[in-house]
Amino acid sequence: MKTPRLPALRSRRSFLGELAAGAAVAAFAPSVRGQPAAPRKLGIAIAGLGGYAAGQLAPALQLTQHCEVRGVVTGTPAKGREWAQHFRFPETSIYSYDTMARLADNRDIDLVYVVTPNALHPAHTIAAAKAGKHVICEKPMANTVAECDAMLAACRAAKVKLSIGYRLQFEPHNLAMKERARSAEFGPYLKLSGALAFPIRRRVWRVEKALAGGGPLMDVGIYCIQAAGMAADTTGTNHAKFAPVAITAREHPKTRPEFFLDVEEGIDWTMEFANGAKGEFMTSYNVGADRFRAEGAKDWIEFAPAFPYGGLKVTTARGPLALAVPPSQQAVQMDHFAQCVREGRESPVSGEMGRRDMVIIEAIYASAAGGGKRVAVKV
Ligand code: NDP
Repeated sequence: MKTPRLPALRSRRSFLGELAAGAAVAAFAPSVRGQPAAPRKLGIAIAGLGGYAAGQLAPALQLTQHCEVRGVVTGTPAKGREWAQHFRFPETSIYSYDTMARLADNRDIDLVYVVTPNALHPAHTIAAAKAGKHVICEKPMANTVAECDAMLAACRAAKVKLSIGYRLQFEPHNLAMKERARSAEFGPYLKLSGALAFPIRRRVWRVEKALAGGGPLMDVGIYCIQAAGMAADTTGTNHAKFAPVAITAREHPKTRPEFFLDVEEGIDWTMEFANGAKGEFMTSYNVGADRFRAEGAKDWIEFAPAFPYGGLKVTTARGPLALAVPPSQQAVQMDHFAQCVREGRESPVSGEMGRRDMVIIEAIYASAAGGGKRVAVKV
């Protein structure tokens, strides 16, 4: 896929104007004249300047209140120079994956956002932690639970915070679903279903097990796992560790075995939760789908589409749910982490949550490999 161009650099003032114009987004708007001066912004270095970094994170970083781009890690120096010019940081703050240790000497940079292919997340997260930087790592956290453990250990040892790029955890309708699930008026939701799928025609790292760790389950099926956790968790305790108790899964027969050499083309799976809630999910690189539904005795809530960056359509048993949304899910996500770092607290969207999802994913693959046998999940 061709890397999107960086967004046109709009002036800070025009962004403030746009934000202030919408009362609906007031909760996300930066402080304005007359209010106390904002504390120093945290400096981010983006590692991996591909589609998501340029297409989504770069525009989001023009909206963040608490962090800004002050460096990059890239294997493509020309992109690094483009980012340096665009975000006005010195070219000395362009690093390669091999020189990440030198980040330790750069006091402008507080955290690294790892946006490389999945297999590289552990090495890049650990390198950033060893350089003393906090880390946001994109989903999936890694390709195995063992790698997640190594990442968690490295961040603990370096005393840095780790968060996963789960933007759904900051999306207002999903947060409303999570709250409704726990309320006596609406919840619990006992029947869940969802699908996220899109067709892939060109050979990219996403269909190579060595880089992607798996097929669509690792890439987009993980969103259904995220949404299911939010809909089924009525415990209200440690959301990052809330998980189903058992999984069953069936891989789809491959219609293009020569293309999907060592990853699944598609997969169906079920999740059973301790309170009796059950879910049925699907992901695929062969068809298109984007939906999620949670149903209980008192309420149902349906998302279609469920997982885009914006424009979700949400209906409930009592009618449409159209909440005010921030201009960028990613800006809210990054600002939230910056606040956690500043206040010295763990993000609720933690490395533990990333590890939990890898435990679930490993159980799904184990069940599919075992012909659909029921696999217990232990986080
Ligand atoms: P891209 O292929 O578009 O970009 C990946 C970038 O990683 C490349 O441009 C390159 O940047 C760098 N890279 C380093 N080593 C390699 C390598 N061996 N092969 C390919 N690229 C390499 O991927 P995406 O941006 O779409 O995805 C990156 C990560 O972000 C994935 O983990 C993905 O799951 C996640 N993601 C998350 C989304 C979300 O909504 N949260 C949405 C989309 C992706 P450079 O040239 O600078 O080195």
